[in-house]
Amino acid sequence: MKKEVSILGAGLVGSLLAIYLAKRGYKVDVYERRGDMRQEKMIAGRSINLALSDRGWRGLEKAGLKEAIEKIAIPMHSRMVHTVDGQLNLQAYGKEGQAIYSVSRGELNKTLMNLADEFDQVNFHFNHFANHVDLNNNKISFTSSPTETKEIANTNFDLLFGSDGAFSSLRHSMQFLDRYNYTQEYIEHGYKELHIPAGENGEFKMFKNALHIWPRGNFMLIALPNMDGSFTCTLFFPFEGEVSFSKLKTENEVEAFFKNYFSDAIELMPGYKESFFGNPTSSLMTVKCFPWQYKGKACLIGDAAHAIVPFFGQGMNCGFEDCTVLNELMDAHNEDWEKILPLFEQARKPNADAILQLALNNFIEMRDLVADEHFLSKKKIEKLIAAKYPERYISPYQMVSFSNIPYAEAMEKGRKINDVLEQLTKMKDLESKTETEEFRKLVETILFG
Ligand SMILES: Cc1cc2nc3c(=O)[nH]c(=O)nc-3n(C[C@H](O)[C@H](O)[C@H](O)COP(=O)(O)OP(=O)(O)OC[C@H]3O[C@@H](n4cnc5c(N)ncnc54)[C@H](O)[C@@H]3O)c2cc1C
Repeated sequence: MKKEVSILGAGLVGSLLAIYLAKRGYKVDVYERRGDMRQEKMIAGRSINLALSDRGWRGLEKAGLKEAIEKIAIPMHSRMVHTVDGQLNLQAYGKEGQAIYSVSRGELNKTLMNLADEFDQVNFHFNHFANHVDLNNNKISFTSSPTETKEIANTNFDLLFGSDGAFSSLRHSMQFLDRYNYTQEYIEHGYKELHIPAGENGEFKMFKNALHIWPRGNFMLIALPNMDGSFTCTLFFPFEGEVSFSKLKTENEVEAFFKNYFSDAIELMPGYKESFFGNPTSSLMTVKCFPWQYKGKACLIGDAAHAIVPFFGQGMNCGFEDCTVLNELMDAHNEDWEKILPLFEQARKPNADAILQLALNNFIEMRDLVADEHFLSKKKIEKLIAAKYPERYISPYQMVSFSNIPYAEAMEKGRKINDVLEQLTKMKDLESKTETEEFRKLVETILFG
């Protein structure tokens, strides 16, 4: 039985995976290309906080980490929609008590690393960039960074996980195998982070327990609360086009743009122009690949296996769910890795493909929240159904964020819901018809049948 594991990447998924394996008595070596983030200053402008939802919590809870992470998480029960004319509209995400949680990526990662470090048999190796994995001879070679070519170390592995993110080196090495499938696709939007500081006494300048959204058709701004009273804002915006990054080159252009679309936000963001020019413009992409594992001894996990766009707030949650599923397979198959790894990729691949698509679709939904009449009328009908069947109706959002229904199943159910909503939009005077046989048949037979 393999009892020594190497992990590439000490990010969110790699650190959590190290804890799962250490708890089972494995000796775990984690190789991270960066220095130890617990000793270094965070780089500003790169996805400072994330939304953690049920699947992520389940992954943390199963590893016994829920309490530790609760201390650094802020519940967001609703989204707060900001219209162009400054009106606010609070929309609950789920039922009473349900929330997604804002957590600092850096704090979460550091906490997971500290918790992993509590196990004597976990060793982190920083400034180790895995530049090549020889899959047949079980050998990893390292340089000190991606730009260095001189090897600084190499090691043999017994069992290897690649949690080394969207540009995974393990995946890159797998791509040379016969019949390996791989696609990488950039979307037309990128993102830029901005900042709403806390008030003078550390107070939140907007409602704390919500994810704030300024939907503007083809683009949007969002803001998530931080523990120190500030908010991290992210502008999701096209690279090219009439209204795009390419058209905002001067201070005047940036000012005119923000005054036009986000006037209530800039009152709270005194440094927005400096941040706009100072912070990087980052791109967004998706990655699909298969297989994820090689001969029961090397396997991709997290973004390395399935990078998705962030519009459903599920990338990390999906990666944490990978760890939960892997742990269940270890229970079921007595840690027989030649059985476990093929079962893992079979179980997770359809679900990773589904959340990839759902996340792309959700961008359209978020951007159109206030703009699209047809979309809004469907939302109204959905509310009618939810009110009439409070116990039975689960919205697609709730299935993804507040349940562990497999993503692929959630996508299929979401399709059905959409079909029914489309049909109901054609029914005249719908509100007076919710007690009719026609309504009941459509909803009960198709949705719950
Ligand atoms: C703007 C934005 C917002 C997001 N918001 C959310 C959200 O709200 N909710 C959510 O669930 N997800 C969100 N995500 C997605 C989430 O950030 C990722 O899914 C998550 O970070 C994946 O974790 P990971 O450990 O697989 O990969 P990563 O976090 O990318 O970690 C990979 C690690 O591997 C290291 N590494 C890379 N290459 C090598 C190598 N060759 N050798 C050694 N080490 C290496 C890296 O330095 C890094 O530490 C968001 C993403 C973005 C871009």
